[in-house]
Amino acid sequence: MLNTILSLFLLAGPSASNYDRIVTTIEQIAAQNPGTTKLLTIGISDKGIPIQALQIGNGPVNTLVVATHHGNEYGSTAVAMGVADALAKKPVDGQTVFVVPVLNTGGYNQNNRYESNLNSSFDPNRDYPGPCVSGQSYNLKSTKSLADFIEQKNIVTSATLHTFWPAVVYPWGISTSDLSTPNDAQFLKLTKAATEESHYQVGNNTEVLYPADGTFEDYAYWKHGVWSLLFELGFSHTPDQTAVKNMIDANIPGIRRFLEQAPTTRAAQHGFSGKCETRLLQRMWLE
Ligand SMILES: [Zn+2]
Repeated sequence: MLNTILSLFLLAGPSASNYDRIVTTIEQIAAQNPGTTKLLTIGISDKGIPIQALQIGNGPVNTLVVATHHGNEYGSTAVAMGVADALAKKPVDGQTVFVVPVLNTGGYNQNNRYESNLNSSFDPNRDYPGPCVSGQSYNLKSTKSLADFIEQKNIVTSATLHTFWPAVVYPWGISTSDLSTPNDAQFLKLTKAATEESHYQVGNNTEVLYPADGTFEDYAYWKHGVWSLLFELGFSHTPDQTAVKNMIDANIPGIRRFLEQAPTTRAAQHGFSGKCETRLLQRMWLE
């Protein structure tokens, strides 16, 4: 199945971006692993495309791997597909893992970071509520669908996958200087567990990357206390097939270990009581 997945990403760029082929491959993974998997749809995008997910395992703790908020980041799609295949063969004990390989289906088909509703185009990973968000959230059906899904399923742990900058980071990533949370030690331990093979950089989101408001990773923690990590994978937005294979191989064990080692209940303390400083939102967003 890894070769089938890699064949989806044979050519970098727009030719790698066809959501129908991703759906066909998820269906193949499900067909090969009927005892451990189930296909489901988490919602319908503004373009009318069903957003597919694969449910893997049947344990009592529900966890999530979601990729491709940014439609051009097909390396993240590849890693999510690799995770789905690996977990379908050997589920995580005690868990039901939901893998969403592409959230931004419209952007994926156009090799475009952004996603459009009927009127305008939005960055899906700036479309969630958050402690420092001032504008309107949920302009997109995809982001609202995912937010509803983590609430309905009581998701406890979440990995959101992007490209590119080799780093795995934890909240807060919002526009503040008050970056610490009561869970920093636990989060740091989990990022280290997630990067034993990849040797990616770990740490606080804003310190390693840059502040951004309205992201999924911060929303999940802030709203629900989800153990939420952001994986910025690899070294390019346009990895060739060898680079895609390396990203899959380097990150599957760490993503599994993160899911295995995260607490089995949501964080009790997850509110934000610091000060928002939107002047910090100056750097160009790249990842
Ligand atoms: Zn991204």
